[in-house]
Amino acid sequence: MPEAQAPLSVATEIAQLLQRLGVPDAAHTGGELTVRSPVTGEVVAQVRQTSTAEATGTIGQAHEAFKAWRNVPAPRRGELVRLLGEELRAAKADLGRLVTLEAGKIPTEGAGEVQEMIDICDFAVGLSRQLYGLTLATERAEHRMMETWHPLGVCGVISAFNFPVAVWSWNAALALVCGDSVVWKPSEKTPLTALAVHAIAQRALARFGGAPEGLLGLLLGQRDIGEVLVDDHRVPILSATGSTAMGRQVGPKLAARFARAILELGGNNAAIVTPSADLDLTLRAIAFSAMGTAGQRCTTLRRLFVHDSVYDALVPKLAKVYGNVQVGDPREAGTLVGPLIDRAAFDGMQKALGESREIGATVHGGQRVEGIGTQDAFYVRPALVELKSHGGPVLRETFAPILYVVRYTSLDDAIEWHNAVGAGLSSSIFTLNVREAERFLSSAGSDCGIANVNIGPSGAEIGGAFGGEKETGGGREAGSDSWKAYMRRATNTINYSTALPLAQGVTFEIND
Ligand code: NAD
Repeated sequence: MPEAQAPLSVATEIAQLLQRLGVPDAAHTGGELTVRSPVTGEVVAQVRQTSTAEATGTIGQAHEAFKAWRNVPAPRRGELVRLLGEELRAAKADLGRLVTLEAGKIPTEGAGEVQEMIDICDFAVGLSRQLYGLTLATERAEHRMMETWHPLGVCGVISAFNFPVAVWSWNAALALVCGDSVVWKPSEKTPLTALAVHAIAQRALARFGGAPEGLLGLLLGQRDIGEVLVDDHRVPILSATGSTAMGRQVGPKLAARFARAILELGGNNAAIVTPSADLDLTLRAIAFSAMGTAGQRCTTLRRLFVHDSVYDALVPKLAKVYGNVQVGDPREAGTLVGPLIDRAAFDGMQKALGESREIGATVHGGQRVEGIGTQDAFYVRPALVELKSHGGPVLRETFAPILYVVRYTSLDDAIEWHNAVGAGLSSSIFTLNVREAERFLSSAGSDCGIANVNIGPSGAEIGGAFGGEKETGGGREAGSDSWKAYMRRATNTINYSTALPLAQGVTFEIND
């Protein structure tokens, strides 16, 4: 019998993946930025950080690259994104695995994140032949009025740990076809996947041939390196994904220098379960939306309003699912809930649960699962918290698997509570009643950027515009007409007459 092989340590597997993906050893060994895998809590890399001077240089290079890239025809720019999509397809298994090891996602979610990158590349390739403007009716004879769309400049991207690769691609694929260059500051918690994406992009650039040097820049480090991007006047557009606290710092700085901001901030997403809901479907949708990615998605379901008439049919079943779900090492078959990203996430979760108990809530689950990895790995049982009323910690986003449940009797109340939080990202209603569904989607219903019927709030497709209102920041990325944020619009009026009629009938006769 051949001897069973011991599983690779996370550090060894990561080193092998990085090598296969084309990341040089020097980029992730011997540097100042310590990277831990949440899977085992062990240190897996020491990444070389970007200095402030290097960051300024990278932005300068991207600024020069933009001046050349904006003159490349958009469909040709799309060819680079097509090649990027091809390289991502080839690297999907390895990059998805790296996402699992660096961010702790279960394999299907790690691979799904890379698929999202591929999807947005496909979308952007098509878009590269559809950057259209309008022709407008003009009030003047023998005139023509139209809109043209032009590249904007360097697009800065700051991203969060929980979508370590997809968020860059939402921005980069669109920005590239729109004629912008891109400089990326990924989360300090997930620099390895960023290095891998950068290496994959270099292969696409090499195959493309002739793209300007510095078209895609990468800055690695803490928030101070992000601040360099925020403060540089050569960056006219910045997409910042992360907490609302981050947005409060970044947003005013961008506004002060009149830069365009795409803010993709925190969510506190809710769903309403009405008397007519299909409870089997609802149960499955809630389970994925609330526990998937260990509650660490911006669109995670955090608040559930259940009608009194179905509460007892749904919530005990949900509590059972919470009690049974497999929490553990995401590399193990059957695991649905992987680790929290770090100790701070664990502490934040315990604090919110403590506050819930203090206000008399019933808490199911929430305790630490011991014995996986080192003491720096944080696994928890997802928590279901039955609240007596809509108040306390439910009003803020705790980035962990906590689902608060509140009983309601009137849809008016449920919608009011639904909208009574700072964030406005994603939302759902579960109902077979067309009046309730339409009301939820109407101007008097959900106040979120995403509103769904009979699917949960998380797991958006790239074809729609993604983002939310209020403290979520108001930005939109990915599909629909989000591309317009990456370009500047010019209104052109052309006079092909011999006269000079002025708008609004104004006359201005000079004696010449
Ligand atoms: P975070 O705010 O701690 O960090 C996000 C990024 O911002 C990091 O790269 C960080 O270095 C950088 N940053 C922080 N402060 C900065 C500053 N003052 N100047 C420049 N850069 C700064 O967020 P996180 O813990 O990595 O991610 C979790 C949060 O992100 C949650 O609130 C989640 O809801 C949110 N999120 C939102 C979306 C969305 O699309 N709306 C998507 C993913 C995550």
